[in-house]
Amino acid sequence: MTVESKLREILAAAFRAETAANPHSQEGLSMSGLGACTRRAAYALAGIPVPPTATSSKENRAANLGTWIHAGLLPRLAQVLGGRTVVEFPVQVDSDGVCIPGHLDLATFALAVPEAEAVVVDVKSVTGSILSDRRLTGPTRAHKLQIWAYGLGLVQSGRRVSHTAVVYVGRERGEVEVFVEEFGPEQEGAVYSRIARLVEWSKAPDEAPRDTAQPRYECPSCPFRARCWSAVGGLPVVDDVQDADPSLVGGVERAALSYLRAGAAESDAKAAKALARAELTQVTAGQYGRVRVGWSAKGAISVRLTAQHSEASSGGQA
Ligand code: SF4
Repeated sequence: MTVESKLREILAAAFRAETAANPHSQEGLSMSGLGACTRRAAYALAGIPVPPTATSSKENRAANLGTWIHAGLLPRLAQVLGGRTVVEFPVQVDSDGVCIPGHLDLATFALAVPEAEAVVVDVKSVTGSILSDRRLTGPTRAHKLQIWAYGLGLVQSGRRVSHTAVVYVGRERGEVEVFVEEFGPEQEGAVYSRIARLVEWSKAPDEAPRDTAQPRYECPSCPFRARCWSAVGGLPVVDDVQDADPSLVGGVERAALSYLRAGAAESDAKAAKALARAELTQVTAGQYGRVRVGWSAKGAISVRLTAQHSEASSGGQA
Protein backbone atom coordinates (compact mmCIF):
# COMPACT_ATOMS: atom_id res chain seq x y z
CA MET A 1 0.00 0.00 0.00
CA THR A 2 1.44 3.39 -0.99
CA VAL A 3 1.58 6.41 1.28
CA GLU A 4 -1.09 8.05 -0.87
CA SER A 5 -3.48 5.11 -0.66
CA LYS A 6 -2.88 4.84 3.09
CA LEU A 7 -3.69 8.50 3.51
CA ARG A 8 -6.82 8.15 1.41
CA GLU A 9 -7.98 5.28 3.59
CA ILE A 10 -7.16 7.24 6.76
CA LEU A 11 -9.20 10.19 5.49
CA ALA A 12 -12.12 7.90 4.72
CA ALA A 13 -11.77 6.37 8.19
CA ALA A 14 -11.83 9.86 9.74
CA PHE A 15 -15.16 10.58 8.04
CA ARG A 16 -16.53 7.23 9.26
CA ALA A 17 -15.30 7.96 12.77
CA GLU A 18 -17.07 11.33 12.73
CA THR A 19 -20.28 9.65 11.60
CA ALA A 20 -19.98 7.08 14.37
CA ALA A 21 -19.23 9.79 16.95
CA ASN A 22 -22.34 11.79 16.03
CA PRO A 23 -25.11 9.31 15.33
CA HIS A 24 -28.12 11.22 14.07
CA SER A 25 -31.21 9.42 15.21
CA GLN A 26 -33.67 9.03 12.38
CA GLU A 27 -36.39 7.84 14.75
CA GLY A 28 -39.29 10.21 15.27
CA LEU A 29 -39.96 13.56 13.62
CA SER A 30 -37.75 16.56 14.35
CA MET A 31 -37.95 20.13 13.11
CA SER A 32 -35.40 19.46 10.38
CA GLY A 33 -37.77 16.86 8.90
CA LEU A 34 -40.93 18.91 9.26
CA GLY A 35 -40.88 20.29 5.73
CA ALA A 36 -39.33 17.26 4.08
CA CYS A 37 -41.22 14.71 2.01
CA THR A 38 -44.71 14.44 3.50
CA ARG A 39 -44.70 10.65 3.52
CA ARG A 40 -41.28 10.48 5.16
CA ALA A 41 -42.42 12.95 7.83
CA ALA A 42 -45.63 10.95 8.32
CA TYR A 43 -43.66 7.72 8.79
CA ALA A 44 -41.40 9.43 11.32
CA LEU A 45 -44.32 10.97 13.21
CA ALA A 46 -46.11 7.63 13.24
CA GLY A 47 -43.06 6.12 14.94
CA ILE A 48 -42.33 3.64 12.17
CA PRO A 49 -39.03 1.98 13.21
CA VAL A 50 -35.99 2.75 11.10
CA PRO A 51 -34.41 -0.40 9.66
CA PRO A 52 -30.94 -1.09 11.19
CA THR A 53 -29.21 -0.76 7.82
CA ALA A 54 -30.46 2.82 7.51
CA THR A 55 -28.41 3.93 10.51
CA SER A 56 -25.21 2.04 9.73
CA SER A 57 -21.98 3.97 9.91
CA LYS A 58 -21.00 5.58 6.60
CA GLU A 59 -18.56 8.26 5.51
CA ASN A 60 -21.34 10.84 5.01
CA ARG A 61 -18.76 13.32 3.77
CA ALA A 62 -21.06 16.21 2.89
CA ALA A 63 -22.97 15.92 6.17
CA ASN A 64 -19.77 15.71 8.19
CA LEU A 65 -18.27 18.72 6.40
CA GLY A 66 -21.45 20.56 7.33
CA THR A 67 -21.04 19.48 10.95
CA TRP A 68 -17.47 20.75 11.03
CA ILE A 69 -18.47 24.08 9.49
CA HIS A 70 -21.18 24.46 12.14
CA ALA A 71 -18.77 23.47 14.92
CA GLY A 72 -16.34 26.21 13.92
CA LEU A 73 -18.66 28.93 12.68
CA LEU A 74 -21.44 29.03 15.28
CA PRO A 75 -19.30 29.61 18.40
CA ARG A 76 -17.29 32.21 16.50
CA LEU A 77 -20.46 34.01 15.42
CA ALA A 78 -21.66 34.02 19.01
CA GLN A 79 -18.32 35.44 20.14
CA VAL A 80 -18.44 38.21 17.51
CA LEU A 81 -22.02 39.02 18.47
CA GLY A 82 -20.67 39.60 21.96
CA GLY A 83 -23.25 38.05 24.23
CA ARG A 84 -27.01 37.56 24.49
CA THR A 85 -26.64 34.72 21.99
CA VAL A 86 -27.12 30.97 22.23
CA VAL A 87 -25.97 28.27 19.81
CA GLU A 88 -27.18 24.70 19.34
CA PHE A 89 -30.10 25.53 21.58
CA PRO A 90 -32.81 22.89 22.18
CA VAL A 91 -36.41 23.91 21.47
CA GLN A 92 -39.68 22.10 20.97
CA VAL A 93 -43.08 22.83 19.50
CA ASP A 94 -46.19 21.35 21.08
CA SER A 95 -49.20 21.15 18.82
CA ASP A 96 -52.04 18.75 18.04
CA GLY A 97 -50.97 16.40 20.80
CA VAL A 98 -47.44 15.91 19.51
CA CYS A 99 -44.11 17.39 20.49
CA ILE A 100 -41.63 18.19 17.73
CA PRO A 101 -38.08 18.69 19.06
CA GLY A 102 -35.21 20.55 17.44
CA HIS A 103 -31.88 22.26 17.99
CA LEU A 104 -31.70 25.76 16.54
CA ASP A 105 -28.28 26.82 15.25
CA LEU A 106 -28.17 30.29 16.76
CA ALA A 107 -30.53 32.76 18.41
CA THR A 108 -29.40 36.22 19.34
CA PHE A 109 -30.87 39.20 21.10
CA ALA A 110 -27.89 41.31 20.00
CA LEU A 111 -29.33 42.23 16.58
CA ALA A 112 -33.03 42.81 17.07
CA VAL A 113 -34.84 46.07 17.59
CA PRO A 114 -36.37 46.16 20.14
CA GLU A 115 -33.73 44.41 22.19
CA ALA A 116 -36.07 41.96 23.87
CA GLU A 117 -36.76 40.16 20.58
CA ALA A 118 -34.59 37.42 19.14
CA VAL A 119 -33.28 36.76 15.65
CA VAL A 120 -33.08 33.04 14.88
CA VAL A 121 -30.36 31.96 12.44
CA ASP A 122 -30.04 28.65 10.64
CA VAL A 123 -26.82 27.90 8.74
CA LYS A 124 -26.90 25.57 5.74
CA SER A 125 -23.63 24.50 4.14
CA VAL A 126 -24.25 23.79 0.46
CA THR A 127 -22.52 23.21 -2.86
CA GLY A 128 -22.01 26.10 -5.27
CA SER A 129 -24.77 24.89 -7.57
CA ILE A 130 -27.27 24.72 -4.72
CA LEU A 131 -26.19 28.19 -3.63
CA SER A 132 -26.97 29.43 -7.14
CA ASP A 133 -30.40 27.79 -6.96
CA ARG A 134 -31.11 29.46 -3.63
CA ARG A 135 -30.09 32.85 -5.02
CA LEU A 136 -32.69 32.39 -7.73
CA THR A 137 -35.58 31.10 -5.64
CA GLY A 138 -34.74 31.77 -2.00
CA PRO A 139 -34.86 29.25 0.84
CA THR A 140 -36.65 25.98 0.20
CA ARG A 141 -40.05 25.38 1.76
CA ALA A 142 -38.46 22.75 4.01
CA HIS A 143 -35.82 25.20 5.24
CA LYS A 144 -38.46 27.86 5.89
CA LEU A 145 -40.65 25.48 7.88
CA GLN A 146 -37.61 24.34 9.85
CA ILE A 147 -36.55 27.83 10.91
CA TRP A 148 -40.12 28.94 11.55
CA ALA A 149 -40.47 25.92 13.84
CA TYR A 150 -37.36 27.07 15.72
CA GLY A 151 -38.92 30.51 16.06
CA LEU A 152 -42.21 29.03 17.25
CA GLY A 153 -40.34 26.85 19.73
CA LEU A 154 -38.78 29.96 21.24
CA VAL A 155 -42.16 31.73 21.32
CA GLN A 156 -43.78 28.76 23.06
CA SER A 157 -41.02 28.95 25.68
CA GLY A 158 -41.90 32.56 26.43
CA ARG A 159 -39.41 34.43 24.24
CA ARG A 160 -40.24 36.94 21.53
CA VAL A 161 -38.86 36.48 18.02
CA SER A 162 -38.65 39.33 15.50
CA HIS A 163 -36.85 37.74 12.54
CA THR A 164 -35.56 34.49 11.14
CA ALA A 165 -32.52 34.22 8.87
CA VAL A 166 -31.47 31.32 6.68
CA VAL A 167 -27.76 31.60 5.85
CA TYR A 168 -26.43 29.47 3.00
CA VAL A 169 -22.65 28.98 3.08
CA GLY A 170 -20.90 27.61 -0.01
CA ARG A 171 -18.67 24.72 0.98
CA GLU A 172 -16.14 25.41 -1.79
CA ARG A 173 -15.32 29.07 -1.21
CA GLY A 174 -17.27 30.19 1.83
CA GLU A 175 -19.48 32.61 -0.05
CA VAL A 176 -22.74 33.36 1.75
CA GLU A 177 -26.33 34.19 0.90
CA VAL A 178 -28.55 35.53 3.67
CA PHE A 179 -32.35 35.47 3.65
CA VAL A 180 -33.94 37.43 6.47
CA GLU A 181 -37.66 37.43 7.12
CA GLU A 182 -39.89 38.98 9.76
CA PHE A 183 -41.40 36.38 12.07
CA GLY A 184 -45.01 36.55 13.20
CA PRO A 185 -48.42 34.88 13.20
CA GLU A 186 -48.26 33.93 9.53
CA GLN A 187 -45.09 31.90 10.04
CA GLU A 188 -46.36 30.38 13.28
CA GLY A 189 -49.61 29.44 11.53
CA ALA A 190 -47.71 27.70 8.72
CA VAL A 191 -45.94 25.49 11.26
CA TYR A 192 -49.14 24.70 13.15
CA SER A 193 -50.95 23.83 9.97
CA ARG A 194 -48.08 21.62 8.71
CA ILE A 195 -48.06 19.70 11.98
CA ALA A 196 -51.84 19.29 11.87
CA ARG A 197 -51.64 17.85 8.36
CA LEU A 198 -48.81 15.50 9.33
CA VAL A 199 -50.72 14.28 12.36
CA GLU A 200 -53.58 13.33 10.03
CA TRP A 201 -51.23 11.64 7.54
CA SER A 202 -49.43 9.77 10.34
CA LYS A 203 -52.63 7.76 10.91
CA ALA A 204 -52.13 6.17 7.46
CA PRO A 205 -48.55 7.05 6.49
CA ASP A 206 -48.40 4.64 3.55
CA GLU A 207 -51.05 6.78 1.91
CA ALA A 208 -49.34 10.11 2.59
CA PRO A 209 -48.24 11.91 -0.57
CA ARG A 210 -44.69 11.66 -1.74
CA ASP A 211 -43.55 15.19 -2.53
CA THR A 212 -43.18 15.18 -6.26
CA ALA A 213 -39.96 17.18 -6.25
CA GLN A 214 -38.33 15.14 -3.52
CA PRO A 215 -37.52 11.66 -4.83
CA ARG A 216 -34.51 12.78 -6.83
CA TYR A 217 -32.84 14.30 -3.78
CA GLU A 218 -34.23 12.65 -0.69
CA CYS A 219 -35.16 9.06 -1.49
CA PRO A 220 -31.65 7.58 -1.66
CA SER A 221 -30.98 8.57 1.96
CA CYS A 222 -34.51 8.00 3.26
CA PRO A 223 -34.66 5.28 5.94
CA PHE A 224 -38.20 4.39 4.85
CA ARG A 225 -37.36 3.86 1.19
CA ALA A 226 -38.00 0.13 1.12
CA ARG A 227 -41.34 0.45 2.86
CA CYS A 228 -42.37 3.50 0.87
CA TRP A 229 -41.87 1.99 -2.52
CA SER A 230 -43.39 -1.37 -1.68
CA ALA A 231 -46.28 0.02 0.33
CA VAL A 232 -49.89 0.32 -0.78
CA GLY A 233 -50.02 2.93 -3.52
CA GLY A 234 -46.30 2.71 -4.17
CA LEU A 235 -44.57 1.25 -7.17
CA PRO A 236 -45.38 -2.43 -7.39
CA VAL A 237 -42.83 -5.23 -7.14
CA VAL A 238 -43.11 -7.31 -10.28
CA ASP A 239 -41.33 -10.66 -10.13
CA ASP A 240 -42.65 -12.10 -13.34
CA VAL A 241 -43.77 -9.57 -15.91
CA GLN A 242 -45.55 -12.22 -18.01
CA ASP A 243 -47.94 -13.14 -15.19
CA ALA A 244 -48.16 -9.73 -13.53
CA ASP A 245 -51.50 -8.14 -12.78
CA PRO A 246 -52.26 -5.54 -15.51
CA SER A 247 -52.70 -2.83 -12.85
CA LEU A 248 -49.18 -3.52 -11.55
CA VAL A 249 -47.78 -3.35 -15.06
CA GLY A 250 -49.67 -0.07 -15.50
CA GLY A 251 -47.96 1.41 -12.43
CA VAL A 252 -44.52 0.62 -13.75
CA GLU A 253 -45.50 1.86 -17.19
CA ARG A 254 -46.62 5.22 -15.76
CA ALA A 255 -43.33 5.70 -13.91
CA ALA A 256 -41.32 4.63 -16.96
CA LEU A 257 -43.19 7.10 -19.18
CA SER A 258 -42.56 9.80 -16.61
CA TYR A 259 -38.87 8.88 -16.78
CA LEU A 260 -38.95 9.23 -20.57
CA ARG A 261 -40.69 12.61 -20.38
CA ALA A 262 -38.09 13.87 -17.91
CA GLY A 263 -35.36 12.66 -20.30
CA ALA A 264 -36.97 14.59 -23.16
CA ALA A 265 -37.16 17.73 -20.99
CA GLU A 266 -33.49 17.26 -20.15
CA SER A 267 -32.62 17.11 -23.85
CA ASP A 268 -34.62 20.29 -24.50
CA ALA A 269 -32.79 22.03 -21.65
CA LYS A 270 -29.43 21.01 -23.10
CA ALA A 271 -30.42 22.36 -26.52
CA ALA A 272 -31.57 25.66 -24.95
CA LYS A 273 -28.27 25.91 -23.10
CA ALA A 274 -26.29 25.35 -26.31
CA LEU A 275 -28.33 28.06 -28.07
CA ALA A 276 -27.77 30.56 -25.24
CA ARG A 277 -24.07 29.68 -25.27
CA ALA A 278 -23.94 30.46 -28.99
CA GLU A 279 -25.63 33.84 -28.41
CA LEU A 280 -23.03 34.73 -25.79
CA THR A 281 -20.03 33.83 -27.96
CA GLN A 282 -19.02 37.46 -28.71
CA VAL A 283 -19.96 38.93 -25.32
CA THR A 284 -17.24 40.77 -23.41
CA ALA A 285 -16.63 39.53 -19.88
CA GLY A 286 -18.29 41.66 -17.19
CA GLN A 287 -21.31 42.23 -14.98
CA TYR A 288 -24.65 42.38 -16.79
CA GLY A 289 -27.39 43.19 -14.29
CA ARG A 290 -27.43 40.35 -11.80
CA VAL A 291 -25.27 38.10 -13.96
CA ARG A 292 -21.50 38.00 -14.32
CA VAL A 293 -20.16 36.61 -17.58
CA GLY A 294 -16.54 35.48 -17.83
CA TRP A 295 -14.24 33.47 -20.04
CA SER A 296 -11.45 31.05 -19.14
CA ALA A 297 -8.09 31.04 -20.93
CA LYS A 298 -9.32 28.02 -22.86
CA GLY A 299 -12.47 29.81 -23.99
CA ALA A 300 -14.96 28.17 -21.62
CA ILE A 301 -17.76 30.48 -20.59
CA SER A 302 -18.58 31.09 -16.95
CA VAL A 303 -22.01 32.51 -16.08
CA ARG A 304 -22.70 33.38 -12.47
CA LEU A 305 -25.73 34.79 -10.80
CA THR A 306 -24.56 37.41 -8.34
CA ALA A 307 -26.30 39.49 -5.72
CA GLN A 308 -25.36 43.06 -4.87
CA HIS A 309 -24.68 42.24 -1.24
CA SER A 310 -22.68 39.07 -2.00
CA GLU A 311 -18.93 39.27 -1.53
CA ALA A 312 -18.40 36.36 -3.89
CA SER A 313 -20.51 34.29 -6.18
CA SER A 314 -20.63 30.97 -7.90
CA GLY A 315 -22.57 29.45 -10.70
CA GLY A 316 -22.65 27.17 -13.67
CA GLN A 317 -20.14 26.80 -16.37
CA ALA A 318 -20.85 25.94 -19.94
S1 SF4 B 1 -38.51 7.08 -0.15
FE1 SF4 B 1 -38.73 9.15 -0.98
S2 SF4 B 1 -40.92 9.40 -1.39
FE2 SF4 B 1 -40.69 7.64 0.01
S3 SF4 B 1 -40.92 8.50 2.08
FE3 SF4 B 1 -38.75 8.48 1.60
S4 SF4 B 1 -38.33 10.52 0.76
FE4 SF4 B 1 -40.55 10.21 0.67
